[in-house]
Order: sequence, then C-alpha cells, then structure tokens
Amino acid sequence: MDRSGLLIILSSPSGAGKSTLARRLMEWDPALRFSVSVTTRAPRPGEVDGQHYWFRSADEFRTMVEADQMLEHAEVFGNFYGTPRPPVEEAIHAGRDTLFDVDWQGGQQIRTSGLGQSVVSIFVLPPSLTELERRLISRGQDAPEVIAGRMQKSRDEISHWAEYDYVIVNEDIDKSTEDLKTILTAERLRRQRQTGLGQFVRNLMEEEVAK
Ligand code: GDP
Ligand code: ADP
Repeated sequence: MDRSGLLIILSSPSGAGKSTLARRLMEWDPALRFSVSVTTRAPRPGEVDGQHYWFRSADEFRTMVEADQMLEHAEVFGNFYGTPRPPVEEAIHAGRDTLFDVDWQGGQQIRTSGLGQSVVSIFVLPPSLTELERRLISRGQDAPEVIAGRMQKSRDEISHWAEYDYVIVNEDIDKSTEDLKTILTAERLRRQRQTGLGQFVRNLMEEEVAK
C-alpha cells in the first residue's frame, strides 16, 4: 500500500539510550533511513563521517544554515547540530521512513516546519538519574567534566517530555525495542497515511465474487 514517509523523532537526555534504540530499530527494518546530522563536535572514537554525523567546522555549519540547507538546527552542549533538509524531503516523497536523533529544539522545529503531519515523536526517559549517570560513565566515551555537563542538562531535556506523542521509560533494552517497533507498526497503519487505500477499497467493493 502506498503511503508517504514518516519522520520518527527520538529525543532523550544524553545517555538514556536513543542511539542504541535507533540502531536496533534499523536492524529490524533496514529500509529505515537514519537522518545523518551535521555537527561541529569532535568525532568520538569509532564514529565515521557521513555515517554517525557529518563532522564539519563552525564556518562550514554557518554556511549551510545561511544557504537554508538545514531543516532545523540548534546549539547543544556548546556545539552546533543540524539536520540537512534535502534528504528528508526526498524520503517523504519516496514513502521512506526517516529516523531522527535530535534534541527537544530539533523536535519542535521539525514539528513546525510544515512537515508536522508526517511526524511521530518519541521521548526516551531513563529509569532514574542515577542510572542515567551510570550509563554515561559506562559508555566510556566522554570525559568526567563532559558527563557532568550532560547530567546538568538532563533536567532541561526531560522537561520537554510532554511535547512528544509517545514516551518510553528505557529500563530493559529488549522491552524498549519491542515498544518502539510497536509504535512504528501502528503509525504505519494509520488510515490517513495509507494513500492508496481509497482506490484499494473501491476495487474491493467492485469485485465480483464468483458464485
Ligand atoms: P549523545 O546523545 O550523548 O550520544 O551525544 P551527541 O553529541 O551525539 O548528541 C548530543 C545531543 O544533540 C543529543 O540530544 C542529540 O539528540 C542532539 N542532536 C544530534 N543531532 C542533532 C540535530 O541534527 N539537531 C538537533 N537539534 N539536535 C541534535
Ligand atoms: P544516547 O544515544 O541517548 O546518548 P546511548 O544509546 O549511547 O544513549 O546509551 C548510553 C549507554 O547506556 C550505552 O553504553 C548503552 O549501551 C547503555 N544502555 C542503553 N540502554 C540501556 C538499558 N536499557 N539498560 C542498560 N544500559 C543501556
């Protein structure tokens, strides 16, 4: 059945498990496209340019914003992050679903960008702030002062939870992954998203049933 592509927004305080959930969802459905953001932050060990992020200088970032190439952009933890616009518009028209790992500012901007009817937004909460800190430390990617900064910002991010369509408390990663798959499956079945449905039903009604 034809339908237009969904924009699936995942937000959470840093360390709650967005990237892990995004990866698992894309393993489940390889047709999902991940929106690769542009960032001015330095790559972490193992991060690949063009796969996890497009790593760019602040000047290059500014040029893209001025040329209106960003669907949304924001400053997070002292770095700039933004979503390149053209791949998103292409995916919607091609009926491909796109997954976004963006903060609450990105979520707000995408919802009000004129593409809002295609948005499904999901907020991921940690079971506790103590567990959030434990996950940031165990990820082993950030210096203690960076982790402290992210913990300090976590309440800010969490305060936007009610702007989202769905909320997952990410206690057990397998359960959260199943919940995410359920959300996506249900959203894909929404009547107004299945653009070929009218014609399908007309054909169904006209079908001659052999006696
Ligand atoms: P991590 O979330 O701890 O792995 O750290 P990152 O540096 O990868 O991301 C920091 C924050 O920036 C997270 O809240 C991301 O969701 C957010 N972010 C990533 N890309 C974008 C983007 O394109 N736009 C916006 N607004 N936020 C983004
Ligand atoms: P985010 O993208 O939101 O910053 P990550 O997906 O990088 O978060 O997860 C942060 C750390 O917590 C990673 O080491 C990840 O393996 C771990 N993690 C994610 N979800 C869970 C969970 N439900 N239980 C325990 N650890 C988790």
